[in-house]
Amino acid sequence: MEIKKVGVVGAGTMGNGIAHGFARGGFDVVLCDVEERFLGRALGTIAKNLDREVAKNRITAGDKAAALARIRPVTERGQLAECDFVIEAATEKFEVKTEIFRDLDRVTRPEIILASNTSSISITKLAALTARPEKVIGMHFFNPVPVMKLVEVIRGLATSQDTFLAVRDLSVQLEKTPVEVNDAPGFVSNRVLMPLLNEAMYTVMEGVATAEAVDEVFKLGMNHPMGPLTLADFIGLDVCLDIMRVLQGGLGDPKYRPCPLLIKMVDAGWLGRKSGRGFYTY
Ligand code: NAD
Repeated sequence: MEIKKVGVVGAGTMGNGIAHGFARGGFDVVLCDVEERFLGRALGTIAKNLDREVAKNRITAGDKAAALARIRPVTERGQLAECDFVIEAATEKFEVKTEIFRDLDRVTRPEIILASNTSSISITKLAALTARPEKVIGMHFFNPVPVMKLVEVIRGLATSQDTFLAVRDLSVQLEKTPVEVNDAPGFVSNRVLMPLLNEAMYTVMEGVATAEAVDEVFKLGMNHPMGPLTLADFIGLDVCLDIMRVLQGGLGDPKYRPCPLLIKMVDAGWLGRKSGRGFYTY
């Protein structure tokens, strides 16, 4: 089936980037969130990010206007009924995604693929909420979506080869590089990245080095563009903690124990960049 109209559920950090990518790629987009104000904010962000592309001569002002005109903001999920593909990028809570997947299974055509941008929730579990588990898949974009090339394409236990191939092709159409991964806690990206960030936090907690020194080691010694503690602040310390708990719960190995300093900082409301304070002050 040719995919022309795409539904994006959730218009936050990731949802606006995903809508941007599809609209810029020539797809019609139905962007759905729970309140008008979230949609207004998302459209403002998309316009600003498209302006950056115009300034860099990657697209013309006409392309920008055409991309924006292809996005229809809606608060009513029934509006997704004519979509040929839907991707969910709502809040990372299983209860939220449970309600959305059950409803998407009801309101969309039974033959279309339902994808999730989740960072850590089991695709197999989301698929099992629907009557079409073979058509449910993970399509994990990276932040900021318009810039980052990678898409982790995650097969749930029941995901069919046709579904996998369709989403792999869709990623290429968006000028991204798809990488195939099987469903497991944290997939590949967070399974490997989060323990690195967590271990960097242990070195700070144990007084091995300051946050600045740890970051310097990774920037200069490993050529990382951002040190692990700067990155943790950027991702959000609450998000890092949630993902460590998913790894710990899902894999059961004590090596995934969240760093006590991370837990304490989250308890204090020091969530990184978004709260103004984390390993650094913003
Ligand atoms: P966010 O908090 O910025 O946005 C979530 C949006 O979902 C909000 O606008 C919220 O109003 C909306 N929402 C909540 N319940 C909804 C519902 N029932 N129906 C429709 N919309 C609803 O979160 P985010 O950072 O964009 O993350 C979204 C998803 O992407 C999560 O699953 C997250 O794990 C994943 N993700 C995040 C990043 C990242 O760096 N932020 C990277 C990759 C994947």
